[in-house]
Amino acid sequence: MKTKSLFMEDAYLTEMEADILDVQAEGPQQWRVVLSETVFYPMGGGQSTDQGLLKNEQWQGEVYQVRIKEGEIVHYVKGEEPPLQAKVKGYIKWERRYQHMRSHSAGHVIDFALYQLGHSPVHLKPLKADHGKKPYIVYEGVLKEDFREKLEQQANALVQQNLSFSTCMMSYEELEKQTLYLQPGLPLHKPLRMLTLESVGSVADGGTQVRQTSEVGKITLTKIEAKEGQTFIYYQIS
Ligand SMILES: [Zn+2]
Repeated sequence: MKTKSLFMEDAYLTEMEADILDVQAEGPQQWRVVLSETVFYPMGGGQSTDQGLLKNEQWQGEVYQVRIKEGEIVHYVKGEEPPLQAKVKGYIKWERRYQHMRSHSAGHVIDFALYQLGHSPVHLKPLKADHGKKPYIVYEGVLKEDFREKLEQQANALVQQNLSFSTCMMSYEELEKQTLYLQPGLPLHKPLRMLTLESVGSVADGGTQVRQTSEVGKITLTKIEAKEGQTFIYYQIS
């Protein structure tokens, strides 16, 4: 990957300066841009894309989407042709990102609460998540009991304790030793990131996270649904 992922180290960075390394035409007035470094989070891991602006004194373009494409972080930009090799400043739409971060961290708070209640990862095995407009997390397995209320209480207790999230990079083998579980589909041969919730445990995670659980706000579990051997937990934050 040509781009340094600044969002992996500090999710609170809102701007950067970078060199434009590659420009490809995407459509009329639309371009695919690769930068030397970026604060823009590419869609993935259930978290939506960042949006924002790239500009210098001569040029500016609107970043409407960011994706990983063929191993590179690609900024999809609207505007005049971006100047190859030039330096640009980048700014993300922070309110949008912060909402995504809170929603993403809320999913992990619920997941850690499920672990504390003894349901995950043995009876409910973490599969995947979507932290968009109608966020949910999915587990392999179904419980007989109705655990919605207990889980909601436990998740909000973690929010109230205002615990801190922290991250560090390590190998797959190291992660295997230190985490509560590893979800399917993790790449084996590149450095991965471990997310730790203070005094609770660690999981593998590459998305952006808030620093403290209190930033998530109140968590409401709107629905828990069992479907074809899987459990879908829908939630909202306020
Ligand atoms: Zn995550």
